[in-house]
Amino acid sequence: MKAIRVHQFGLPEVMKLETVPDPHPTPGQLLVHIHAAGINPVDTYIRSGQYAAPTPLPYTPGMDAAGIVESTGQRVYLSGSLTGTYAELALCEPSQVHPLPVTLTFAQGAAINIPYATAYRALFQKARAVPGETVLVHGASGGVGIAAVQLARAAGLRVIGTAGTERGLQLVREQGAHQVLDHRQPGYLNGITADVILEMLANVNLANDLTALNKFGRIVVIGSRGNIEIAPREIMRRDATVFGMLLFNMPANEKAATHAGIAEGLANGTLRPVIGHELPLADVAKTHEAVMSPGAYGKIVLLP
Ligand code: NAP
Repeated sequence: MKAIRVHQFGLPEVMKLETVPDPHPTPGQLLVHIHAAGINPVDTYIRSGQYAAPTPLPYTPGMDAAGIVESTGQRVYLSGSLTGTYAELALCEPSQVHPLPVTLTFAQGAAINIPYATAYRALFQKARAVPGETVLVHGASGGVGIAAVQLARAAGLRVIGTAGTERGLQLVREQGAHQVLDHRQPGYLNGITADVILEMLANVNLANDLTALNKFGRIVVIGSRGNIEIAPREIMRRDATVFGMLLFNMPANEKAATHAGIAEGLANGTLRPVIGHELPLADVAKTHEAVMSPGAYGKIVLLP
């Protein structure tokens, strides 16, 4: 099969398209024909060698994908794999395989796992958002942000979403945000208050988030790429809570609950992954450059 292989950590060019032996499932494993693989920022952190838990070399990148199970013919989306998803085939544990409704394309299936599970966990398992509350999705134009806007709307929250381009703002509006804000404009949070803030770039925004939070408000730090100085008094005077989360820490029972919640949203049409770019495996380096560039617009997927 064709697969992307990484033999050394470094720039996107270290990812090479190679022909490697087909993987063979042992009893209890599933072989999945990958039709689309999702690109996530974490794939770039791992490839660069800067991720906290280094992956043994060589490896095939990718955690998200959609395809068909060889033994059953079932359409599925994956929540991880044993062998990496930037490839024509992947081996999976049964717990990594979830039904993909026929109403969704494989590209959309590849955009489900990390974005929707992260947004679901942040909103409902961490912040415990309830109908009628206001959520600020701080970075709503990318994978996690769009998932959060759709999930929050479906749950009866008032949704404010931010983006950094006109195109991104329009997309966030189309996904159901009641209000959109350009996070590149000075003072864009003036007059904004929220009960829950989902934060994609905490090293830039956390200090301002604290001042935009209502009493008893909750912030979930989902993304951060550096350090920031904050005023702890702002947390204190609001009886506020700042949660951190890492999807990979999610216990198995909460993972099952998350994917059950997502399955219902996919089935009833409230969850509709948005694909911005589809590229062939050979263009893998471009996908890693794009996912780290400003101007997010939904998900980037590879088509093996
Ligand atoms: P993505 O698709 O690349 O989207 C990035 C988002 O951040 C875009 O909406 C982008 O908007 C926005 N952004 C850029 N500058 C911003 C600013 N100053 N303030 C607020 N938002 C800003 O990435 P993603 O997949 O949604 O992931 C978002 C972040 O969460 C990444 O850092 C990722 O590593 C992290 N993450 C963490 C977990 C976890 O388990 N903790 C899971 C998934 C993702 P524009 O491009 O329009 O400016």
